[in-house]
Amino acid sequence: MTTTPGNLFIISAPSGAGKTSLVKALLQTGIDLSLSVSYTTRPARAEEVDGQDYHFISREDFEQRQKQDDFLESAQVYGNFYGTSKKWINDAITSGRDILLEIDSQGAQQVRRIFAQAVTIFVLPPSLDALEMRLRRRAQDSLEAIGRRLAAAREEINHVREYDYVIINEKLDDASQELRCIIQAERLRTAKQLARHHSLITQLVNISVP
Ligand code: GDP
Ligand code: ADP
Ligand code: 5GP
Repeated sequence: MTTTPGNLFIISAPSGAGKTSLVKALLQTGIDLSLSVSYTTRPARAEEVDGQDYHFISREDFEQRQKQDDFLESAQVYGNFYGTSKKWINDAITSGRDILLEIDSQGAQQVRRIFAQAVTIFVLPPSLDALEMRLRRRAQDSLEAIGRRLAAAREEINHVREYDYVIINEKLDDASQELRCIIQAERLRTAKQLARHHSLITQLVNISVP
């Protein structure tokens, strides 16, 4: 398989572990990374912006898009549907950009099957109590939705071994630094550097010593 110059990163976590906060902190550092905006049937939270956090769509619209094969992957998570735009990903990958998907473990499995080079990162909370506290403090989901998310946490955490990297999000600053390190190290892999700096490396390798 040929190596594409861009990287596809996937980040998953049980709800409330801090995946979205980590990604926000990462993007604020000015790192050159494009975030895929998923389609979802979940209602928008108070601070969420349509087209920025998610494309919020109806169940009918979601099913229509599924029929049209618009999604690279899709899954039902905590009772709502989520999907990643195939066209957006293809355009981004072809242009050599690094992209990041915030998707659940079912979605990660589907993308890995299509794109084996994906680099996968799993975020864990420091404890189940901390997870519960964060979900309650976030206060963005109904009590029923919080209960559903907590009940699903163990099942989601069970997938941790399928991932390339694990971050334990105890202190947000430390965890976001770790996320940045993973991305930087992956960018420096020889195969990626050969793809990105093809002409420079060819030139350097072919220099004849006088
Ligand atoms: P939060 O992660 O607790 O803030 O809750 P969200 O409602 O934003 O996300 C719910 C779940 O859906 C999480 O596990 C996300 O990773 C996952 N998710 C979000 N977008 C996608 C997507 O496009 N595809 C898949 N498969 N999962 C997604
Ligand atoms: P996810 O996207 O994984 O569901 P969020 O990023 O929305 O998680 O974080 C859930 C809640 O926990 C938010 O209210 C967030 O501010 C808080 N949070 C995230 N990381 C930490 C941390 N390291 N310490 C304390 N609170 C955190
Ligand atoms: P929330 O509703 O709290 O934003 O997200 C709940 C879960 O859905 C999170 O674990 C999130 O990663 C996942 N999720 C969000 N978008 C997608 C998506 O496009 N595909 C899949 N498979 N999961 C998603």
